[in-house]
Amino acid sequence: MSLSLADILAAARTIRDVAVRAPLVPSPYLSAFCGQDFLLKLENTQPIGAFKLRGAANAVMNLPTDVKGVTCCSTGNHGRGVAYAARARGLRAVVCMSSLVPKAKVDGIRALGAEVRITGRSQDEALAESQRLARDEGLAEISPFDDPLVIAGQGTIGLELMQDRPDLDTVLVPLSGGGLAAGVALAVKAIRPDATVIGISMDRGAAMHASIRAGHPVEVEEVASLADSLGGGIGSDNRLSFPLCRDLLDDVVLVTEEEIYRAMQTLFYEDRMVAEGACVVGIAALQAGKLPALRGPVATVITGRNMDMEVFRQIVSGEDVILGDVTLKGRPYAA
Ligand SMILES: *Cc1c(COP(=O)(O)O)cnc(C)c1O
Repeated sequence: MSLSLADILAAARTIRDVAVRAPLVPSPYLSAFCGQDFLLKLENTQPIGAFKLRGAANAVMNLPTDVKGVTCCSTGNHGRGVAYAARARGLRAVVCMSSLVPKAKVDGIRALGAEVRITGRSQDEALAESQRLARDEGLAEISPFDDPLVIAGQGTIGLELMQDRPDLDTVLVPLSGGGLAAGVALAVKAIRPDATVIGISMDRGAAMHASIRAGHPVEVEEVASLADSLGGGIGSDNRLSFPLCRDLLDDVVLVTEEEIYRAMQTLFYEDRMVAEGACVVGIAALQAGKLPALRGPVATVITGRNMDMEVFRQIVSGEDVILGDVTLKGRPYAA
């Protein structure tokens, strides 16, 4: 199976009336910090509060008319996208999630009328449940990242980036299962082959990073993270997002929980933005000096805003945050 810019252009037409064309805005603070134009693609402004609506809508709109309903596994935002797109088409949706998914995300999905199944403590267990539902109940399964229509949908972000700033030299993409990074890299490199696309993950449980290193999909232990949307494996039978990320990403950089905490404060105090930990990994890498030879203009994708607001309050107040069985030491923001 191969994917090209044509699939991304088709996706852009398909999702036009469901997903918004998120604005690309400069961050004066981060531009000054790195000495280049630094731009934020505000996917937190999507109607479900995250970019995942793009891929989910492209997949749901392409289903045959006689489909019985849809199912998926999710770390939260994909389920929300699938629930939203399914509701728009009047379809039943069942979203399978592990117990690591924060309550704010589970509630958001229920509010869209989807059925929710909480199974196990890992994304792999949630995946097994959605595969069982697909088999036993004849529902169409929509992978959060390893599906050509989902990748093409997420790729519309790369297309819009290049339309808005044809001179972009570097794109920093939060990386988990790799649907976003694969789609964005595909679009950006088709239009501007010399541009650099870097994937960024948290340093604990970074499945794509470990898989690229190993040369094949590997399993990692899933742990609680401020970047909860970046948790979960890439699937041992990954067909698309793994080879695309392996072949198209120029680099994969890892950031710590402390670096994510600080970047969330930066985005809030400097750009006044409420965003999830997963969104700020590019900013975290920049602030931590992990992106030395950065060529500009630079853009990063602010992927979503579906935070637990109590945790968000703790972070912007400089308080400690409990993450699973560890306590992340808080620190007041200092520019
Ligand atoms: C899913 C998600 C990501 C990562 O996308 P992948 O396609 O899984 O790599 C990043 N940020 C947010 C907010 C997400 O929901």
